[in-house]
Amino acid sequence: MTSRPPPAEPKRPTIYQEAMEVFHRAADLIGLDRRVRMELEEPDYEHIFYVTVKLHTRLTPLTQAAEVQKYSDLTESELLPDGLEPLLDGSFVFKRRALIGARLQMRDGVVRLKGKGLYKVVPGRPERFKAYRVQHNQARGPYKGGIRYHQDVSLDLFKVLAAEMTWKTAIADVPFGGAKGGIKVDPKSLSSEELEALTLRYMYRLKPLIGPTLDIPAPDVGTDASIMGLLLRQFTDGERERHALRGVVTGKDTRIGGSEGRVRATGQGLAYCIQEWFADRGTTPAGSTFVLQGFGNVGSNAAEILTGLGAKLLAVNDAGGTIYSPGGIDVLDLIAYVYDNPANMRKTVAGYPKAQQIGKSDLWDVECDICIPAALGGEITGPVAERLKCKLVAEGANGPTTSEGDRVLEKRGIEMIPDIIANAGGVTVSYYEWIQNKRMEHWSETEVNGRLEQAIKSNYRIIRDISRNTPRRTATHNSTRYCIDKEVDMRTAAMVLALKRIEAHYQLEGFSQ
Ligand code: NAD
Repeated sequence: MTSRPPPAEPKRPTIYQEAMEVFHRAADLIGLDRRVRMELEEPDYEHIFYVTVKLHTRLTPLTQAAEVQKYSDLTESELLPDGLEPLLDGSFVFKRRALIGARLQMRDGVVRLKGKGLYKVVPGRPERFKAYRVQHNQARGPYKGGIRYHQDVSLDLFKVLAAEMTWKTAIADVPFGGAKGGIKVDPKSLSSEELEALTLRYMYRLKPLIGPTLDIPAPDVGTDASIMGLLLRQFTDGERERHALRGVVTGKDTRIGGSEGRVRATGQGLAYCIQEWFADRGTTPAGSTFVLQGFGNVGSNAAEILTGLGAKLLAVNDAGGTIYSPGGIDVLDLIAYVYDNPANMRKTVAGYPKAQQIGKSDLWDVECDICIPAALGGEITGPVAERLKCKLVAEGANGPTTSEGDRVLEKRGIEMIPDIIANAGGVTVSYYEWIQNKRMEHWSETEVNGRLEQAIKSNYRIIRDISRNTPRRTATHNSTRYCIDKEVDMRTAAMVLALKRIEAHYQLEGFSQ
């Protein structure tokens, strides 16, 4: 007798399927053209490739007492102080010229470093890293999206983030589509020379797939303007008309074609949305309070701008810890503690002496007006949303609230500025950078911020009008085309705007792009 197999467990939805829930909801609401829906349901291209790089020789600390005893008579080696680069795990990486002028005393591959102790020499070796570029949709313009270096990335995550870029570029009304990519690597586990080699190799592999009118990367978690400079160099190396290619990446240093205001743009855009939320209630952020998760590019800039507008930062959580000060945290002082202090290698708020150290989950219990998640995705889950004691969640990060979190926030009457408009400042100024590169111009920060404010606030107003079903045409915005005869939550409203703008391209241009 053959026994019947146990009933299959229902398959859990992938994070991509989960993230597309709001897409399907909005598509149903507006009766999105079936073929447009198919075009948008899956990415145009999913590139996975491998990048190899030679890791340098490392010195890893000897910790076992017996071993330390065994080499107790080993004399000290002398290396030039800048010949080694320290890593967070306590090891050192040899720089290219580390051995010039060195006097090494080695036994069984063990050396003693002056003032530091015993280390095992681990010879350099090649290593392979998995790399990605997902190109989701290009109906509105070239693919556009960041490059993430992080140990927890996956194809599914990049699909989520690439699709989110398609919606975001449409909402920001910039002439781009959506993409995202990066490398599965903890960038802090590599030396700066290794990171440079990895970045150059990544672009070497990526080059056939991207270009200033095809797909334009930008910084994301784990990458910055210096990585963009390396990507630019590798892309344009040996090209006859390389200056015309400067727009192949955005988020560059302002000295090599980056835009003024780009570094702060995402935080600035977030602050404009929050200002608009207050303006709608006839008030301003002055005197309000907020808590923050993530004190990186987005979080620290948003905090600086909001406190400049008179708001008070009560608590911050980041990857290293959580701090709290009921009287308010001095943001400029905290920025100096995190970023201008070479001893703070993890660039964390943890240990900040002018605030209390609290547990991560205590952040959610702090009573405030605004909660700003500006770290990674999936942090505001259902149970976290139950705890929040704020009036507004303004999503600096991409996808920080789960669908269950959304439902709880709605049930509790906590308002929401969804990520696709709240953090669209970065891609908007990326577009300004791209135009400046095309025109060989350099705009002032005042000009950039003036345009950004107008763009973010008018698109925010359109989304708010869709959400409340109040179609209006004013001097600054026109929501008449987008309202759908019923009220919807802000996240759905933002998606309605994105889908209507994308659908127009298919309807008016046809399907051959
Ligand atoms: P960043 O690398 O500069 O900073 C990330 C911050 O998050 C750091 O403070 C880090 O300590 C913190 N963090 C990491 N893991 C954490 C964890 N498990 N718990 C708590 N904190 C944690 O990154 P960023 O550029 O500020 O980006 C933050 C978010 O904003 C990301 O979701 C990113 O996709 C999104 N975003 C960034 C931009 C941009 O222009 N930089 C634009 C749009 C969206």
